[in-house]
Amino acid sequence: SDVGSQKDRVVTEEEWLQKWEMGNIGFHKEQGHPLLQKYLNVLLNGRSGLRIFFPLCGKAVEMKWLVDMGHSVVGVEVSEQALKEFFAEHSLPYHEEPVPEISGAKKLQSTSGNISLYCCSIYDLSSSIVGKFDGVWDRGALVAVNPCDRERYVSLMITLMEKNSSYLLVTVSYDPNKHKGPPFYVPESEIKSLFG
Ligand code: SAH
Repeated sequence: SDVGSQKDRVVTEEEWLQKWEMGNIGFHKEQGHPLLQKYLNVLLNGRSGLRIFFPLCGKAVEMKWLVDMGHSVVGVEVSEQALKEFFAEHSLPYHEEPVPEISGAKKLQSTSGNISLYCCSIYDLSSSIVGKFDGVWDRGALVAVNPCDRERYVSLMITLMEKNSSYLLVTVSYDPNKHKGPPFYVPESEIKSLFG
């Protein structure tokens, strides 16, 4: 299919922050995602106490789900408002600390210690800062990344994965000539070439 119409589209961090400020967050769902429920066993693969990464996390309610099941969650999100709303809406106490390796970044961590949300761009992270993960929940993340940044995003994600980690990816299928995105249309052939 022809994705030429979206190839050069860029949504800036400033625009994402504005969406949060204006409450233009139609992507946020109050109900946990049915595909996470459906494929939870694939993500967990019989393992318990996993470290699970939420790239471009917003205030995804699935983070709370997974910690309630005994896993720990790390997320990254440019909007501090989104992260504060997450803790507030789940009545979770948290504290903030600077991230010495990343200037201007903050880490918001639940008092219980099992939810750590980095407020910065995902491109500022590395495995030396956040470690590696046993699982990834990628919903509204690869499809929200600017098309020109996909390779950089996927290369980074690969460096954040443990050997036996599982990666659940949700994409959306539609005619890219009819909507400008995000979410962007990422054809299956491109997913194969990106992740190998
Ligand atoms: N995954 C979430 C949010 C999807 S919307 C969910 O399922 O609800 C995409 C989110 O990515 C927005 O909240 C936006 O603020 C954030 N974002 C966009 N670019 C980013 C970047 N470079 N680094 C971190 N977060 C980013």
